[in-house]
Amino acid sequence: MTPPTSPNPLPHPRLPSPVEPVDDDRFHRHGVRLLLKRDDLIHPDLPGNKWRKLAPNLAATTAAGHRTLLTFGGAYSNHLRATAAAGRLLGLGTIGVVRGQELAERPLNASLARCVADGMRLHFVDRATYREKRDPATLARILRAVAPPDGPPETPYVVPEGGSNTAAVRGCVALGHELRQAADVVGVACGTGGTLAGLAAGLAAGQRALGIPVLRGGFLGDEIRTLQEEAFGARRGDWSLDERFHCGGYGRTTPALLAFAEDFEQRHGVPIERLYVAKLLHGLLTLTEEGAFPPGTRVAAVITGTPSP
Ligand SMILES: *Cc1c(COP(=O)(O)O)cnc(C)c1O
Repeated sequence: MTPPTSPNPLPHPRLPSPVEPVDDDRFHRHGVRLLLKRDDLIHPDLPGNKWRKLAPNLAATTAAGHRTLLTFGGAYSNHLRATAAAGRLLGLGTIGVVRGQELAERPLNASLARCVADGMRLHFVDRATYREKRDPATLARILRAVAPPDGPPETPYVVPEGGSNTAAVRGCVALGHELRQAADVVGVACGTGGTLAGLAAGLAAGQRALGIPVLRGGFLGDEIRTLQEEAFGARRGDWSLDERFHCGGYGRTTPALLAFAEDFEQRHGVPIERLYVAKLLHGLLTLTEEGAFPPGTRVAAVITGTPSP
């Protein structure tokens, strides 16, 4: 029996995702209307931008006849977890190349344990190798290392760290389209910037996207320009970054950020992912208090994910 085919490789995404106004006097006071773009509700196993970025890559994997998808991430990567879940749902093999050789010696954290439970094979590499993973010779070495010891070698479909390749960036254009009538400014937390690159391309003239990087470093603007050039042939849309809200870098939080996130959850009943979404909302509130948005501005915050296990 052949399984039913569907243009969408993952069944039942909730798209377009809902846009919900929230009643928050800290924004109201400045005449700003805050909206939540609930991408966290798209799919229970692949929430948020991970669905938007993975779906086109999963379609490409199966269309090209690959049975296995290989990708990269850190010890707490939402992207690795989403990829593992997708593999389970679609019956695809998944291999996660994890940054940090030393992790191989330790009990798996909850996030990686979840990946393994979903059938992902993990391959730990040292930080130097991880940094060089885009180098073809390094990638070839990794592929040899993960090949099954017996049986035919497999050629996995390779998705870069964070899932941000051309297909993923194009997949995020729909996020912009869905927000075309809804907002004046759209805020999104950025890791690799792939989501912002696609989102900005999908917005209408007069709308702008505002990225809040969660990594330190100030290199993201160039990477987003490159992602847009690769996906669309040119820079697209009106977007900018505000680099002030990373709280010390990736995976870092401050007591003030955690208190803010908890308070936001209590006020509005929306689960707030701490490493990206909390930083975004905190950044948008700070900007509102600084008067960055004229009265009457509709600011949509993209809720790009759900709290980690
Ligand atoms: C992965 C992730 C991001 C970052 O997306 P990029 O496209 O890499 O910028 C933002 N928010 C959440 C919740 C994520 O899991």
